[in-house]
Amino acid sequence: MAGFFTKILQKFSNPEIDWDELEAQLIGGDLGVKLSMQIVQELRDQQRTLHGHDIVDVTKEHIKKILPPPRPPFLAFEDKPKVILVVGVNGTGKTTSSAKLAHLLKKQGHSVMLAAADTFRAAAVEQLEVWSKRIEVPIIKGPPNADPSAVCFDAYNAAVARKVSFLLCDTAGRLHTRHNLMEELRKVERIVGKKDESAPHEVLLVVDATTGSNALQQAREFHKAVPLTGLIVTKLDGSGKGGIVVAIQQELGIPTRFVGTGEQVDDFKAFNATEFLDQML
Ligand code: GDP
Repeated sequence: MAGFFTKILQKFSNPEIDWDELEAQLIGGDLGVKLSMQIVQELRDQQRTLHGHDIVDVTKEHIKKILPPPRPPFLAFEDKPKVILVVGVNGTGKTTSSAKLAHLLKKQGHSVMLAAADTFRAAAVEQLEVWSKRIEVPIIKGPPNADPSAVCFDAYNAAVARKVSFLLCDTAGRLHTRHNLMEELRKVERIVGKKDESAPHEVLLVVDATTGSNALQQAREFHKAVPLTGLIVTKLDGSGKGGIVVAIQQELGIPTRFVGTGEQVDDFKAFNATEFLDQML
């Protein structure tokens, strides 16, 4: 996949650059039409300085400027749990990513707790329980169809009682309507905020790399409901290139924090722009 892109883009390193083709390839990399056109235009404007340079490297450097510098890992508070809401549309890999992030934080030496707040989808609670046993991280769940904000509230109390550093709340990705879903997320945010007014401290949107530019619309909608602090881009091991996270960063200023590269718990790591772009182009 990477070789294909490299070959295509190398084709453009001669002075006769086929800009339309370059634009098509950037769109194929999931950057979205608007951003792809903008990048091509900006490179066209610098055309004279491009001569003799590898167009692949020039394009990567150009995109890298949109992405923020690497962020430090999440740090724990000394006296209270850090609350992380994991949000996103069903099927993006939200439950799996919650478990993977819990595992990563645990490996970094933190104490972690999971809250099974996707009470709309019974299987999500069961799935998170299976993960919790596997990664040996405690889980708080409510009765079937429990109010997700009540689950998070109880989980917060449990996290305080057990002096846990990170509380990860897996939230619902589907309700009867999108409006209900956003209202529910707002309520979770409000209720958690009653325990600690700075909570939730992180709201991470899970974005499936294989859904292409739909992810931008999802990010807009979720960001309106609960201000997002970061993205987790999943399924980068599949056919999706994930370029849409660059468009999300540019339009909404939300940085990508983690990437999922498979179904196993260790297939998850902090986002690295250089590695990401090397895979994309
Ligand atoms: P949710 O509905 O958003 O909670 O999604 P799930 O966590 O249940 O994941 C949906 C499917 O995607 C499951 O089969 C996961 O194993 C799979 N999945 C999640 N993350 C990744 C990933 O990074 N790569 C691959 N290949 N599959 C993933």
